[in-house]
Amino acid sequence: MNIRKITLHRLKMKLKHPFRNSLSAVSEKEFSIVEIENGSGLSGYGETVAFDAPWYTEETNETTQYMLEQFLVPLLKAAPISHPSEVQQRFQAVKGNPMAKAALEEAVWDLYAKEQNLPLHRILGGVNKEIAAGISIGIENTIESLLARIEDKISEGYKRVKIKIKPGWDVNVLREIRSAFPSLPLMADANSAYSLRDLDHLKQLDEFSLLMIEQPFAHNDFADHAVLQEQLATPVCLDESIQSLADARTAIALGSCRIINLKIGRVGGLQEAMDIHNLALEHGIGLWCGGMLESGIGRAHNMALASLPGFTLPGDIGSSSHYWHEDIIVPEVIVEKGIIKLNDLPGIGYRLNQEVFEACRTGKKTFSL
Ligand code: MG
Repeated sequence: MNIRKITLHRLKMKLKHPFRNSLSAVSEKEFSIVEIENGSGLSGYGETVAFDAPWYTEETNETTQYMLEQFLVPLLKAAPISHPSEVQQRFQAVKGNPMAKAALEEAVWDLYAKEQNLPLHRILGGVNKEIAAGISIGIENTIESLLARIEDKISEGYKRVKIKIKPGWDVNVLREIRSAFPSLPLMADANSAYSLRDLDHLKQLDEFSLLMIEQPFAHNDFADHAVLQEQLATPVCLDESIQSLADARTAIALGSCRIINLKIGRVGGLQEAMDIHNLALEHGIGLWCGGMLESGIGRAHNMALASLPGFTLPGDIGSSSHYWHEDIIVPEVIVEKGIIKLNDLPGIGYRLNQEVFEACRTGKKTFSL
């Protein structure tokens, strides 16, 4: 590959609807779009998915920017690469910081796919041309407004609904949802709001036939998740806990979960995500692709990943218009009857909407090779 220029674009976008979980509320998203240009006029794009504070994992916008500028861009510049799968190994020189690594690695994959004149999903080995779309709805002020939002999303065709739960907003809320929507494919994400002391309380969730309960305990609590999974009929899904292939192996060995929510940014890139996908497939672990309130660039990468055969559950991959007044890509991502159709254009399959992109941009930094 002939990488000539790397640009870190910083953007800020206002969410259509503020998103609240057990730990934080997000009404505006700041992130970086990494652009990598080759010598033949092609650009590959990736997106950082960290938030402005370290409530999800330890990374933030500022730390991803710092790691990219000080370490990862110089590492990528240090020697040529012939295939994007080499980036994962090169970045092993830097401990942690998976979201910073993933954004740069995504851009390399996109550029490579464009150089091959092939869609990224084909390069990754994807088999599904249609992605089932699920939607994640944050904590609302009232149960009534949550029920109204669920009603709305069902009428838009979404295949499953995920709600956020925390102590005081869980069994009571799920009971109301179940009585209004008895057969809705439904799941609940706790973002680590509980501990093993809540075991008896969490056992009550079994009565709601949930698809899964996501990340009830702390991210590093593999042992207690295993105890919970043994006592719960509802499958446990891990999100924050799985930051690498090694974490996935630990969770599978201990029986900490039956399902993994896979996010490219959280695990350090597409190669690591594909390695986890292969392991999950081998062990019969259910898989779906999570979301981080991405713009269209990150969303397009998620869609390519979700085309792999192990993704058997609907992901948090919604339409652009669910999140944004206007997305930074054209065309926008559209959900029709709960399905997103992948296109066969080269790379991620979407172009930048230059006008929106520039309106949202707050800064940029360029590195030439
Ligand atoms: Mg989650």
